[in-house]
Amino acid sequence: MQVSVAIDLALDRLFTYLVPVELTEKLLVGQLLRVPFGGRIVRGFAMSLKDDADVADGDERKFKLKPVMAIEDASPFFSPKLLELVKWIAGYTSSPIETTLKAALPAAVLKPTMKPKELLYVDARDDAGEDLTPQQQKLLAEIRRVGGGWMQQLVREFKTSPSTLRAMAEKGALEIAPRAQRRDPLAGRSVMPTRPLQLNDEQAAALKSVMKAVPVEGGAAADPRPVLLHGVTGSGKTEIYLQAIASVLETGRDAIVLVPEIALTPQTVRRFAGRFGEQVAVLHSALSDGERYDEWQRIRTGAARVVVGPRSAVFAPVRSLGLIVVDEEHDPSYKQGETPRYHARDVAVVRARLEGAAVVLGSATPSLESWRNAQTGKYALVSVKNRVTGRTLPAVHLVNMEEEAARTGHAPIFSAPLLDAIHLRLERGEQTILFLNRRGYSRVLECQSCGWTAQCPDCSVPYTYHQADRCLRCHVCGGWTHLPSECPDCKAGDFSYTGVGTQRAEAALKRCFAHARVLRMDADSTSRRFSHDDILSTFRAGKADVLLGTQMIAKGLDFPNVTLVGVLNADTSLNRPDPRASERTYQLLAQVSGRAGRAEKPGEVYLQTFSPDAPAIAAAASDRGFAAFAEDELAARREAYLPPFCRLSTLVFRATDEALASAWAELYAKSLAAWAAKFNSSHGAALFRVSESAEAPLAKAEGWFRYQVVIRAPSTKDIVKAVKWIEAERPAPKELRIAFDVDAIDLA
Ligand code: ADP
Ligand code: ZN
Ligand code: ZN
Repeated sequence: MQVSVAIDLALDRLFTYLVPVELTEKLLVGQLLRVPFGGRIVRGFAMSLKDDADVADGDERKFKLKPVMAIEDASPFFSPKLLELVKWIAGYTSSPIETTLKAALPAAVLKPTMKPKELLYVDARDDAGEDLTPQQQKLLAEIRRVGGGWMQQLVREFKTSPSTLRAMAEKGALEIAPRAQRRDPLAGRSVMPTRPLQLNDEQAAALKSVMKAVPVEGGAAADPRPVLLHGVTGSGKTEIYLQAIASVLETGRDAIVLVPEIALTPQTVRRFAGRFGEQVAVLHSALSDGERYDEWQRIRTGAARVVVGPRSAVFAPVRSLGLIVVDEEHDPSYKQGETPRYHARDVAVVRARLEGAAVVLGSATPSLESWRNAQTGKYALVSVKNRVTGRTLPAVHLVNMEEEAARTGHAPIFSAPLLDAIHLRLERGEQTILFLNRRGYSRVLECQSCGWTAQCPDCSVPYTYHQADRCLRCHVCGGWTHLPSECPDCKAGDFSYTGVGTQRAEAALKRCFAHARVLRMDADSTSRRFSHDDILSTFRAGKADVLLGTQMIAKGLDFPNVTLVGVLNADTSLNRPDPRASERTYQLLAQVSGRAGRAEKPGEVYLQTFSPDAPAIAAAASDRGFAAFAEDELAARREAYLPPFCRLSTLVFRATDEALASAWAELYAKSLAAWAAKFNSSHGAALFRVSESAEAPLAKAEGWFRYQVVIRAPSTKDIVKAVKWIEAERPAPKELRIAFDVDAIDLA
């Protein structure tokens, strides 16, 4: 027998080895193997097996094959279905198979040094033991009562010593042995058990439709299409997920819940842990290697059957997948920014199909890709139009900042109507959330006399001013510098900080309301591990009046006493060089607005904007809802030949030598244009379109110059085919990096 192996080097090539007789029974696809490679011993995954009979006897390769040395781990890291999924991703995103395999596995799991944490565990034997002292007999009774425990814990609790326990073990009354102790990411955090809520009619109908996609025990689903669950914010989608998962668990199958990284707060995790307890495994970026290793092993062994995590959790090795939920399916964090550049929502759909499982994509503001799939019938659409038990959606007011600026002579951080609204909340003892859209550049240092701005020399972005340590930082490369004492261009000494950062907004707010208790939440205030959770708990407990923050506070938060939401700069995200800028802006505003009035008291939203007529802003303020926005936006996309009416890919050429990057971008653009001309003439329409080569919007990063070519075509396959053709024709020099993003979600 022979096995093809993906070796841990990004060669994008499989190597064939002989399977020695003693391993033929044991070797399985998906296992990690040890093999000889170029005079070294390396590790690699078994990808497929073939019989010797498949190789012709005369084939001399047969004699050159080296044998597999050993199986590193008997239980496979990838099931056959997961391997199939990984191969699909590698092909679809045009990524090396080895890199794709690695992306599907937490790095901690492959560390050879990683082990379960073992501690001594004490169990009482049935045997009474010989010659126990009266004290030891009392202790034995106590240990029996609590049903055993960790040595350390018993010593502490019963004020005894390890040597006493050991002596009792020698006398045959106790058994002491090492046992794996789970490194629990939720340890020390209280989780209250919850029970299923009585669903309202809309929720019940939605759950019923979702369940049609879930395979019945020993059979297929009534309607196996992916389900797009479109429910307004606060419509009780999470409760629908919870009840769908409960049913799936009952049929003996497992569930994966994907949430955006930013929404993966302990608050979210608690909602799942509260319902399913120990069966929940959590995977997120703040876990220690040990926690991640343990959670992954618990999933692999079937101890955990509900996995909650960000995009990489779509690869969780659950044993029998029944359901994948993708919450906030429109969220850009589902797209991986490096090779393999997969989109977890799309991977979820493919995995569910491969494993005969249901997939539910939930959102109040679905991506236009999913919305269109629902319209064409590729996905089943399930709508929940009302908030739970009749609570109304908040009233949204637009504040035209042009007018505010004209009236007051400068553009204030807070408009008069918003200040009045905050004042009212403070009087009534209700809470306010203020949101600062950070997509634009804030806190840029600018010379008052000549307009010079401080820029990072290695990246083409302005530095951001940080008040805490009084320095300028680059958010692309992390570099920093001191504040200049004078302008390098005109030698003047007056600087202004244009744009508004959360710190400045906080200061301004405190000037207006000296007694207001304000909490600030941004990347600076949440770098400690639980500070995110702590801030939210403080706010929830009513110990603050105002929560002021960036994107972090836009999603998923549910505070009953919040009746006002203010967006300080609603339009910043419109100005991005991105075909989805309008969609993103609408999504963001709808999500933030959804934080207001979630309980009995009705909510109000103020959107401050300089462009009240922009379609995304106007739509967010109207009660026409998502469907109306989507209809207009889809019409515009169709007109402009943009996704979802085509596939859009980018090629980014990076080099430290600008001429090299630009020359290669030029070469690709020309060759692709020639390919496009042929494609279009054989299809009789201009379906394959290639941009001119140009500087990328982020023209320089970490000292690398970036040039870009944008390709549009009817399918990703068409694009991959063309790019592979050039790659083969013109191998790039090693000083040049080419990043190919097949379904690019932005053009940065
Ligand atoms: P969404 O995920 O759609 O934004 P949530 O699931 O967070 O909405 O629900 C909003 C609030 O309504 C939560 O506090 C939740 O506990 C509550 N809720 C959901 N379903 C019900 C129900 N059937 N009865 C009472 N309260 C509910
Ligand atoms: Zn100057
Ligand atoms: Zn930089």
